[in-house]
Amino acid sequence: MNLQSLFQSQQAFFRSQQTKDIDFRKRQLLKLKGLLKANEEKLYGAIYEDFAKSKFDTYTTELSIMYSEIEYFLKNISRLSKQEKIKTNMINFPGKSRIYYEPLGCTLIIGAWNYPYQLTLLPVITAVAAGNTCIIKPSELPANTMRVMAEIINDNFPPEFLYVVQGGVEETTELLKFPYDKIFFTGSTKVGRIVYEAAARNLTPVTLELGGKSPVIVAKSADLRIAAKRIVWGKFLNAGQTCIAPDYLLVEECVRERLLDLITERIESSNYVDGSENYVKIINKRNFERVVKMIDSTKVVYGGGFNQETLYIQPTIMDNVGWSDAVMQEEIFGPLLPVIGFTDFEEVLDKILSFEKPLSAYLFSNEEKQKSSFVNKLSFGGGCINDTIMHIANDKLPFGGVGNSGIGNYHGKFGFMAFSHQKPVFEKPNKGEFDLKYPPYTDSKKKWVDKLV
Ligand code: NAD
Repeated sequence: MNLQSLFQSQQAFFRSQQTKDIDFRKRQLLKLKGLLKANEEKLYGAIYEDFAKSKFDTYTTELSIMYSEIEYFLKNISRLSKQEKIKTNMINFPGKSRIYYEPLGCTLIIGAWNYPYQLTLLPVITAVAAGNTCIIKPSELPANTMRVMAEIINDNFPPEFLYVVQGGVEETTELLKFPYDKIFFTGSTKVGRIVYEAAARNLTPVTLELGGKSPVIVAKSADLRIAAKRIVWGKFLNAGQTCIAPDYLLVEECVRERLLDLITERIESSNYVDGSENYVKIINKRNFERVVKMIDSTKVVYGGGFNQETLYIQPTIMDNVGWSDAVMQEEIFGPLLPVIGFTDFEEVLDKILSFEKPLSAYLFSNEEKQKSSFVNKLSFGGGCINDTIMHIANDKLPFGGVGNSGIGNYHGKFGFMAFSHQKPVFEKPNKGEFDLKYPPYTDSKKKWVDKLV
């Protein structure tokens, strides 16, 4: 497929106005849902090949999320895309003010590999709901999931509407040359910069869903058993290859030992062993080696094992970690949990404030003052109090980063807005003309304007 022609065909299709029709959008979403359902076994098979992800994990963290987003849009597209009447101000009286929710046009959607289906197709579902066309570039790292998505989309939708481009950096670099109406990127902060620069050349608006080091803080007032359970689940889900996984643990010194015992117990009972249905492997050798290199055996208090053949890394806890240790220098994106103790809650917040704004932050505490300080003092994309990860599961909440962890957000109506232009239009009747704004300009006209504003 010639990428330039693909882009031009999508531009032409968008200009034909067909994607603006609400029934068209609903039909495409229903069709996509039907295709995903009909191909579930293929989708399960491909992701298992890529990183041994179980059907349960794939359903709960990938397919169910896409089905639920499609259902949301089928129910809400008409409401979301309806023109909105806005009150007209005195200076414009008489007249009608409205906001029109207009699709942006031809979009480029670039996905990450760690939840390959939903991170690629959720923005596609949203873009379609908002009336756009999409050129889709999944991550090339999970080769099987990329191939299955290409088969499902390219065999069933016309390329001028939706098309999956397979390939790596070379293809993405080529794709980034065109003047899209929107680029939606999920991936690392490093590549996010490349995408943002390319978009800037064409003044293309972007949503950048990036990463970062997300802290989890446990204060002494927390329910430690619950904290251990929820941290272990959030950290080792997808073997730590989750953008909003708690990256490192900050625990109040006086409960440190007890919490680590409970975390260890929880890991043991979760059966995260090599080949377990409850766990996945590391995506590839490069990432495996990158994560293994961060293990400092002198600090390991649990785990530390790995198997290069199966790309398995055991859930690993490293205690007494220092801020300058290797594991604290970059997003881990693997199953290592570094632990740092603290004695002063406000000081630990100040320390987090000294780093780039993370994609997520989590607090386990039962003290209202601490909760309020956590929310008001720290800046992070999104987060939870007394839980991990689950803020992503409410589609009524926006999902996205801030600062280094991203630009913009999506999910539900927030995604719809990310793929729409809010176009204000003011309609003036021919009658009821006041001459205030027209020359000759006089003092008495100015006095009237003062009164009206
Ligand atoms: P990545 O940035 O390496 O790759 C993302 C995409 O960019 C892929 O499709 C890849 O083909 C493309 N790409 C890679 N190098 C490129 C280049 N030089 N030029 C143009 N395109 C290029 O990220 P990844 O390894 O797939 O994902 C891991 C990162 O993504 C982590 O930092 C994680 O936190 C973040 N992430 C964020 C979210 C979120 O929703 N905010 C979700 C998942 C992952």
